Amino acid sequence: MTSNPQTYSTSVWAPTVVAVVGSDTPFAARRIYCVGRNYADHIREMKEGDERDPPFFFQKPTDALVPDGTIVPYPPLTDDLQYEVELVVAIARGGRNIERGSAERHIFGYAIGIDLTRRDRQREANKRGLPWEIGKSFDHSAPCGPLHRMASTGVMSKGAITLSVNGVGRQKGNLSQMIWNVTEIIANLSTHYQLQPGDLIFTGTPAGVGSIVTGDRLECAIDGLGTLRISIGPKTE
Ligand code: MN
Repeated sequence: MTSNPQTYSTSVWAPTVVAVVGSDTPFAARRIYCVGRNYADHIREMKEGDERDPPFFFQKPTDALVPDGTIVPYPPLTDDLQYEVELVVAIARGGRNIERGSAERHIFGYAIGIDLTRRDRQREANKRGLPWEIGKSFDHSAPCGPLHRMASTGVMSKGAITLSVNGVGRQKGNLSQMIWNVTEIIANLSTHYQLQPGDLIFTGTPAGVGSIVTGDRLECAIDGLGTLRISIGPKTE
């Protein structure tokens, strides 16, 4: 669709945005790509796949993004909501077949994200050979903190990544443990899709994933990116 009418037959929604640290101008999000299984210790705890497999990707709807401080409603259709803390990479410059060596020139910046997952639905999908959609792509499933520009962070290839629930540490890893690092992910993903400014990439989670329930408070941190806090609200009926 390239037409640009002045009026529409539905109400018009505003773009989903992510705040940018030190700026009044937010980042307009386009697509959310997510890497599955990118830390060896998480692959082992899930007992799925082979660490040498190439990266694979799934998407979440853009309006699944929710900011720092959100009370996320416990989603319907699950009894096993789980957290996965992840480094999020924001794309400033698009491209196809981007070379690893030039991938960092496409990065806008980084944020802390949580890939919220209906684990029971995801496991069922795996068993039955069905898409991951129901397990991964529900409303509010992509909490994401503010973006820190590349200019202030540099290329992020190492640093602690942690998540705690109600003050108790649950996930503790290091970005250096990624099987596919950020530039390799951008290079590979850009062979699948034409990347565009506004795209976000959730880059996978370290070990320690687990269940959460209504009332839980989650706090995530990545070295250099501050913290992301959310809590889980009542179940959506
Ligand atoms: Mn994930």
